[in-house]
Amino acid sequence: MDRIGVYTSGGDAPGMNACVRAVVRTAINNGIKVTGIRRGYEGMIEDDMVNMTSRSVANILQLGGTILKTARCEEFRTPEGRSKAMENLKARGIEALVCIGGNGSYAGALALSQEYGIPCIGIPGTIDNDLYGTDFTIGYDTAINTALDAIDKIRDTADSHNRVFIVEVMGRDAGFIGLDVGIAGGAEGIVIPEDRDDVEKIMRHFNRGDKRSKSFSIIIVAEGDEIGGSQELTERLRTLHPDLDIRTTVLGHIQRGGSPTARDRILASRLGYEAVHGLMKGLKDVAVGIINGSPNYTPFDTAITNTKSVNYELVRMAEVLAR
Ligand code: ATP
Repeated sequence: MDRIGVYTSGGDAPGMNACVRAVVRTAINNGIKVTGIRRGYEGMIEDDMVNMTSRSVANILQLGGTILKTARCEEFRTPEGRSKAMENLKARGIEALVCIGGNGSYAGALALSQEYGIPCIGIPGTIDNDLYGTDFTIGYDTAINTALDAIDKIRDTADSHNRVFIVEVMGRDAGFIGLDVGIAGGAEGIVIPEDRDDVEKIMRHFNRGDKRSKSFSIIIVAEGDEIGGSQELTERLRTLHPDLDIRTTVLGHIQRGGSPTARDRILASRLGYEAVHGLMKGLKDVAVGIINGSPNYTPFDTAITNTKSVNYELVRMAEVLAR
Protein backbone atom coordinates (compact mmCIF):
# COMPACT_ATOMS: atom_id res chain seq x y z
CA MET A 1 0.00 0.00 0.00
CA ASP A 2 1.70 3.17 -1.22
CA ARG A 3 -0.97 5.83 -0.65
CA ILE A 4 -4.22 6.10 1.27
CA GLY A 5 -6.93 8.75 1.26
CA VAL A 6 -8.61 10.16 4.36
CA TYR A 7 -11.84 12.18 4.55
CA THR A 8 -14.49 13.39 6.97
CA SER A 9 -18.12 13.00 5.93
CA GLY A 10 -21.66 13.66 7.21
CA GLY A 11 -22.09 15.83 10.30
CA ASP A 12 -18.93 17.29 11.80
CA ALA A 13 -17.88 16.31 15.30
CA PRO A 14 -15.24 17.66 17.68
CA GLY A 15 -12.22 15.36 17.59
CA MET A 16 -12.31 14.72 13.84
CA ASN A 17 -9.12 16.78 13.49
CA ALA A 18 -7.36 14.73 16.14
CA CYS A 19 -8.36 11.67 14.15
CA VAL A 20 -7.11 13.04 10.82
CA ARG A 21 -3.81 13.85 12.53
CA ALA A 22 -3.53 10.31 13.88
CA VAL A 23 -4.30 8.75 10.49
CA VAL A 24 -1.77 10.95 8.67
CA ARG A 25 1.05 10.47 11.17
CA THR A 26 0.51 6.73 11.67
CA ALA A 27 0.52 6.17 7.91
CA ILE A 28 3.58 8.32 7.27
CA ASN A 29 5.42 6.59 10.11
CA ASN A 30 4.79 3.32 8.30
CA GLY A 31 5.97 4.57 4.92
CA ILE A 32 2.46 5.14 3.52
CA LYS A 33 1.66 8.44 1.78
CA VAL A 34 -1.61 10.22 2.57
CA THR A 35 -3.99 12.32 0.49
CA GLY A 36 -6.57 14.43 2.31
CA ILE A 37 -9.91 14.46 0.51
CA ARG A 38 -11.80 17.69 1.20
CA ARG A 39 -15.62 17.86 1.69
CA GLY A 40 -16.13 14.10 1.90
CA TYR A 41 -17.66 12.44 -1.15
CA GLU A 42 -18.23 15.81 -2.83
CA GLY A 43 -14.48 16.43 -2.88
CA MET A 44 -13.88 12.87 -4.07
CA ILE A 45 -16.13 13.51 -7.08
CA GLU A 46 -14.74 17.01 -7.74
CA ASP A 47 -11.11 15.99 -7.19
CA ASP A 48 -10.70 18.39 -4.27
CA MET A 49 -7.73 16.64 -2.69
CA VAL A 50 -4.39 17.55 -1.19
CA ASN A 51 -1.27 15.59 -0.34
CA MET A 52 -0.61 15.63 3.38
CA THR A 53 2.56 15.53 5.43
CA SER A 54 3.14 15.26 9.16
CA ARG A 55 3.37 19.05 9.21
CA SER A 56 -0.03 19.53 7.50
CA VAL A 57 -1.66 18.21 10.65
CA ALA A 58 0.43 20.19 13.13
CA ASN A 59 -1.49 22.17 15.73
CA ILE A 60 -4.94 20.81 14.85
CA LEU A 61 -5.37 18.30 17.69
CA GLN A 62 -7.25 20.80 19.84
CA LEU A 63 -9.43 22.30 17.11
CA GLY A 64 -13.15 21.57 16.76
CA GLY A 65 -14.73 21.03 13.34
CA THR A 66 -12.67 19.42 10.60
CA ILE A 67 -9.84 20.97 8.59
CA LEU A 68 -10.79 18.67 5.70
CA LYS A 69 -14.36 20.10 5.78
CA THR A 70 -17.34 17.82 5.44
CA ALA A 71 -20.40 17.60 3.21
CA ARG A 72 -23.44 15.56 2.28
CA CYS A 73 -23.38 14.55 -1.38
CA GLU A 74 -26.40 13.23 -3.28
CA GLU A 75 -24.37 12.47 -6.42
CA PHE A 76 -22.29 9.89 -4.57
CA ARG A 77 -25.44 7.83 -4.00
CA THR A 78 -25.50 7.14 -7.77
CA PRO A 79 -23.19 4.68 -9.61
CA GLU A 80 -22.18 7.53 -11.95
CA GLY A 81 -21.07 9.69 -9.02
CA ARG A 82 -19.05 6.85 -7.53
CA SER A 83 -17.47 6.12 -10.91
CA LYS A 84 -16.24 9.73 -11.15
CA ALA A 85 -14.91 9.50 -7.60
CA MET A 86 -13.08 6.27 -8.37
CA GLU A 87 -11.43 7.76 -11.47
CA ASN A 88 -10.05 10.60 -9.35
CA LEU A 89 -8.81 8.23 -6.65
CA LYS A 90 -7.07 6.07 -9.28
CA ALA A 91 -5.47 9.07 -10.97
CA ARG A 92 -3.98 10.08 -7.63
CA GLY A 93 -2.75 6.58 -6.83
CA ILE A 94 -5.01 6.18 -3.78
CA GLU A 95 -5.22 2.48 -2.94
CA ALA A 96 -7.30 2.49 0.25
CA LEU A 97 -9.59 4.86 2.16
CA VAL A 98 -10.14 5.92 5.74
CA CYS A 99 -13.64 7.34 6.18
CA ILE A 100 -14.42 9.34 9.33
CA GLY A 101 -18.18 9.75 9.68
CA GLY A 102 -21.48 8.10 10.48
CA ASN A 103 -23.63 5.28 9.12
CA GLY A 104 -24.34 7.01 5.80
CA SER A 105 -20.66 7.60 5.22
CA TYR A 106 -19.96 3.92 5.94
CA ALA A 107 -22.67 2.97 3.40
CA GLY A 108 -20.97 5.16 0.79
CA ALA A 109 -17.57 3.58 1.46
CA LEU A 110 -19.07 0.10 1.28
CA ALA A 111 -20.76 0.85 -2.06
CA LEU A 112 -17.46 2.08 -3.51
CA SER A 113 -15.58 -0.93 -2.24
CA GLN A 114 -18.18 -3.39 -3.55
CA GLU A 115 -18.09 -1.80 -7.01
CA TYR A 116 -14.34 -1.19 -7.36
CA GLY A 117 -12.65 -3.34 -4.71
CA ILE A 118 -10.91 -0.42 -2.99
CA PRO A 119 -10.37 -1.34 0.69
CA CYS A 120 -12.11 1.06 3.09
CA ILE A 121 -12.08 1.37 6.83
CA GLY A 122 -14.56 3.49 8.80
CA ILE A 123 -14.02 5.52 11.95
CA PRO A 124 -17.09 6.49 14.00
CA GLY A 125 -17.33 10.28 14.04
CA THR A 126 -20.66 11.67 15.22
CA ILE A 127 -21.79 13.48 18.34
CA ASP A 128 -24.87 11.22 18.62
CA ASN A 129 -22.95 8.12 19.81
CA ASP A 130 -25.46 5.96 17.95
CA LEU A 131 -23.04 3.84 15.92
CA TYR A 132 -22.82 0.10 16.43
CA GLY A 133 -19.39 -1.47 17.05
CA THR A 134 -17.94 1.04 19.47
CA ASP A 135 -18.72 2.11 23.02
CA PHE A 136 -18.25 5.77 22.12
CA THR A 137 -18.05 7.83 18.95
CA ILE A 138 -15.73 10.76 18.32
CA GLY A 139 -17.37 14.01 19.43
CA TYR A 140 -19.85 12.55 21.88
CA ASP A 141 -17.94 13.36 25.06
CA THR A 142 -17.37 16.95 23.96
CA ALA A 143 -21.03 17.37 22.98
CA ILE A 144 -22.38 16.14 26.31
CA ASN A 145 -19.96 18.33 28.24
CA THR A 146 -20.96 21.37 26.19
CA ALA A 147 -24.64 20.62 26.78
CA LEU A 148 -24.02 20.03 30.47
CA ASP A 149 -22.26 23.36 30.84
CA ALA A 150 -25.32 25.08 29.33
CA ILE A 151 -27.71 23.13 31.57
CA ASP A 152 -25.78 24.07 34.72
CA LYS A 153 -26.21 27.71 33.72
CA ILE A 154 -29.91 27.24 32.99
CA ARG A 155 -30.28 25.60 36.40
CA ASP A 156 -29.09 28.80 38.10
CA THR A 157 -31.75 30.91 36.42
CA ALA A 158 -34.43 28.21 36.78
CA ASP A 159 -33.79 28.11 40.52
CA SER A 160 -33.92 31.87 40.90
CA HIS A 161 -37.31 32.18 39.19
CA ASN A 162 -39.00 28.87 40.15
CA ARG A 163 -39.37 27.99 36.52
CA VAL A 164 -39.67 24.81 34.54
CA PHE A 165 -37.06 24.70 31.79
CA ILE A 166 -37.49 22.38 28.84
CA VAL A 167 -34.10 21.98 27.20
CA GLU A 168 -33.75 20.36 23.79
CA VAL A 169 -30.50 18.58 23.06
CA MET A 170 -29.30 16.90 19.87
CA GLY A 171 -29.89 13.23 19.14
CA ARG A 172 -31.70 12.51 15.89
CA ASP A 173 -32.62 8.87 16.40
CA ALA A 174 -30.95 8.14 19.70
CA GLY A 175 -31.19 9.36 23.25
CA PHE A 176 -27.57 8.94 24.32
CA ILE A 177 -26.96 12.68 24.63
CA GLY A 178 -30.33 13.27 26.33
CA LEU A 179 -29.92 10.48 28.85
CA ASP A 180 -26.33 11.18 29.83
CA VAL A 181 -26.83 14.93 30.01
CA GLY A 182 -30.06 14.38 31.97
CA ILE A 183 -28.28 12.21 34.53
CA ALA A 184 -25.22 14.46 34.80
CA GLY A 185 -27.38 17.58 34.94
CA GLY A 186 -29.82 16.20 37.52
CA ALA A 187 -32.85 16.66 35.24
CA GLU A 188 -36.32 15.94 36.67
CA GLY A 189 -37.40 14.47 33.36
CA ILE A 190 -35.67 12.94 30.33
CA VAL A 191 -37.51 12.53 27.04
CA ILE A 192 -35.70 10.30 24.54
CA PRO A 193 -36.76 8.29 21.47
CA GLU A 194 -36.03 4.94 23.15
CA ASP A 195 -38.49 5.50 26.02
CA ARG A 196 -42.11 5.46 24.84
CA ASP A 197 -43.53 6.34 28.28
CA ASP A 198 -41.36 9.31 29.09
CA VAL A 199 -43.85 12.05 28.25
CA GLU A 200 -46.58 10.33 30.29
CA LYS A 201 -44.16 10.02 33.20
CA ILE A 202 -43.49 13.74 33.10
CA MET A 203 -47.20 14.52 32.94
CA ARG A 204 -47.75 12.21 35.93
CA HIS A 205 -44.92 13.96 37.78
CA PHE A 206 -46.64 17.31 37.43
CA ASN A 207 -50.11 15.87 38.01
CA ARG A 208 -48.97 14.30 41.26
CA GLY A 209 -47.93 17.73 42.38
CA ASP A 210 -44.32 16.64 42.80
CA LYS A 211 -43.53 20.09 41.55
CA ARG A 212 -44.50 21.41 44.96
CA SER A 213 -41.63 19.58 46.60
CA LYS A 214 -39.14 21.17 44.24
CA SER A 215 -38.97 24.83 43.39
CA PHE A 216 -37.98 24.28 39.77
CA SER A 217 -37.53 21.61 37.17
CA ILE A 218 -35.28 20.88 34.25
CA ILE A 219 -36.57 18.55 31.58
CA ILE A 220 -34.26 17.33 28.83
CA VAL A 221 -35.76 16.46 25.45
CA ALA A 222 -33.88 14.77 22.62
CA GLU A 223 -34.62 16.45 19.29
CA GLY A 224 -35.52 13.07 17.77
CA ASP A 225 -38.13 12.10 20.35
CA GLU A 226 -41.43 10.98 18.87
CA ILE A 227 -43.25 13.84 20.59
CA GLY A 228 -41.49 16.14 18.11
CA GLY A 229 -39.14 18.17 20.30
CA SER A 230 -39.20 20.84 22.97
CA GLN A 231 -41.92 23.08 21.48
CA GLU A 232 -44.43 20.24 21.36
CA LEU A 233 -43.67 19.18 24.93
CA THR A 234 -43.94 22.77 26.12
CA GLU A 235 -47.37 23.13 24.52
CA ARG A 236 -48.63 19.87 26.05
CA LEU A 237 -47.41 20.85 29.49
CA ARG A 238 -48.76 24.41 29.21
CA THR A 239 -52.21 23.17 28.25
CA LEU A 240 -52.37 20.82 31.23
CA HIS A 241 -50.66 23.13 33.72
CA PRO A 242 -51.29 26.76 32.80
CA ASP A 243 -49.99 27.72 36.26
CA LEU A 244 -46.43 26.61 35.48
CA ASP A 245 -43.86 29.17 34.35
CA ILE A 246 -42.29 27.22 31.49
CA ARG A 247 -39.35 28.28 29.34
CA THR A 248 -37.92 26.44 26.38
CA THR A 249 -34.32 26.37 25.20
CA VAL A 250 -32.94 24.63 22.12
CA LEU A 251 -29.19 24.15 22.54
CA GLY A 252 -28.71 23.44 18.83
CA HIS A 253 -25.40 23.60 17.04
CA ILE A 254 -23.28 24.79 19.95
CA GLN A 255 -23.24 21.08 20.85
CA ARG A 256 -21.25 20.33 17.69
CA GLY A 257 -18.56 22.92 18.18
CA GLY A 258 -15.71 23.64 20.52
CA SER A 259 -12.37 22.19 21.40
CA PRO A 260 -12.59 18.41 21.90
CA THR A 261 -12.31 17.06 25.45
CA ALA A 262 -9.31 14.97 26.47
CA ARG A 263 -11.44 11.84 26.13
CA ASP A 264 -12.41 12.69 22.55
CA ARG A 265 -8.84 13.55 21.60
CA ILE A 266 -7.59 10.25 22.99
CA LEU A 267 -10.42 8.23 21.41
CA ALA A 268 -9.88 9.93 18.04
CA SER A 269 -6.13 9.35 18.20
CA ARG A 270 -6.56 5.68 19.04
CA LEU A 271 -9.15 5.10 16.34
CA GLY A 272 -7.04 6.83 13.67
CA TYR A 273 -3.99 4.80 14.68
CA GLU A 274 -5.94 1.52 14.74
CA ALA A 275 -7.61 2.24 11.38
CA VAL A 276 -4.26 2.54 9.61
CA HIS A 277 -2.96 -0.59 11.36
CA GLY A 278 -6.16 -2.37 10.31
CA LEU A 279 -5.55 -1.48 6.65
CA MET A 280 -1.92 -2.60 6.98
CA LYS A 281 -3.16 -5.95 8.31
CA GLY A 282 -5.32 -6.32 5.20
CA LEU A 283 -8.68 -5.54 6.82
CA LYS A 284 -11.30 -3.98 4.56
CA ASP A 285 -14.89 -2.85 4.72
CA VAL A 286 -14.90 -2.68 8.49
CA ALA A 287 -15.50 0.06 11.04
CA VAL A 288 -13.00 0.37 13.84
CA GLY A 289 -14.24 0.97 17.38
CA ILE A 290 -13.17 0.66 20.99
CA ILE A 291 -15.19 -1.79 23.09
CA ASN A 292 -14.35 -2.27 26.77
CA GLY A 293 -11.05 -0.50 26.20
CA SER A 294 -9.86 -2.64 23.28
CA PRO A 295 -9.85 -1.99 19.54
CA ASN A 296 -12.47 -3.86 17.62
CA TYR A 297 -13.39 -4.17 13.94
CA THR A 298 -17.00 -4.60 12.82
CA PRO A 299 -17.94 -5.37 9.18
CA PHE A 300 -19.58 -2.34 7.58
CA ASP A 301 -22.85 -4.15 6.86
CA THR A 302 -23.13 -5.25 10.52
CA ALA A 303 -22.31 -1.72 11.73
CA ILE A 304 -24.82 -0.18 9.33
CA THR A 305 -27.74 -2.53 9.97
CA ASN A 306 -27.48 -2.79 13.75
CA THR A 307 -28.44 -0.14 16.22
CA LYS A 308 -26.92 0.59 19.58
CA SER A 309 -29.38 1.29 22.35
CA VAL A 310 -29.19 3.27 25.56
CA ASN A 311 -28.93 1.35 28.81
CA TYR A 312 -32.48 1.13 30.22
CA GLU A 313 -31.17 0.61 33.73
CA LEU A 314 -29.79 4.14 33.48
CA VAL A 315 -33.23 5.41 32.46
CA ARG A 316 -34.67 3.87 35.63
CA MET A 317 -31.80 5.18 37.73
CA ALA A 318 -32.33 8.71 36.42
CA GLU A 319 -36.00 8.54 37.48
CA VAL A 320 -35.10 7.44 41.01
CA LEU A 321 -32.37 10.03 41.45
CA ALA A 322 -34.60 12.85 40.23
CA ARG A 323 -37.20 12.37 42.96
P1 ATP B 1 -24.25 11.78 10.53
O1 ATP B 1 -24.51 10.65 11.50
O2 ATP B 1 -23.51 12.87 11.14
O3 ATP B 1 -25.47 12.21 9.79
P2 ATP B 1 -23.57 10.22 8.24
O4 ATP B 1 -22.28 9.71 7.72
O5 ATP B 1 -24.60 9.18 8.63
O6 ATP B 1 -23.24 11.19 9.41
P3 ATP B 1 -25.16 10.94 5.90
O7 ATP B 1 -25.60 12.27 5.42
O8 ATP B 1 -26.17 9.90 6.16
O9 ATP B 1 -24.22 11.22 7.18
O10 ATP B 1 -24.13 10.33 4.82
C1 ATP B 1 -23.01 11.09 4.36
C2 ATP B 1 -22.86 10.91 2.88
O11 ATP B 1 -22.59 9.52 2.60
C3 ATP B 1 -24.09 11.22 2.05
O12 ATP B 1 -24.23 12.59 1.80
C4 ATP B 1 -23.82 10.44 0.78
O13 ATP B 1 -22.92 11.14 -0.05
C5 ATP B 1 -23.10 9.20 1.32
N1 ATP B 1 -24.05 8.08 1.43
C6 ATP B 1 -24.95 7.87 2.40
N2 ATP B 1 -25.66 6.73 2.19
C7 ATP B 1 -25.18 6.21 1.02
C8 ATP B 1 -25.50 5.06 0.26
N3 ATP B 1 -26.44 4.20 0.63
N4 ATP B 1 -24.79 4.85 -0.89
C9 ATP B 1 -23.84 5.71 -1.29
N5 ATP B 1 -23.50 6.82 -0.59
C10 ATP B 1 -24.15 7.07 0.55
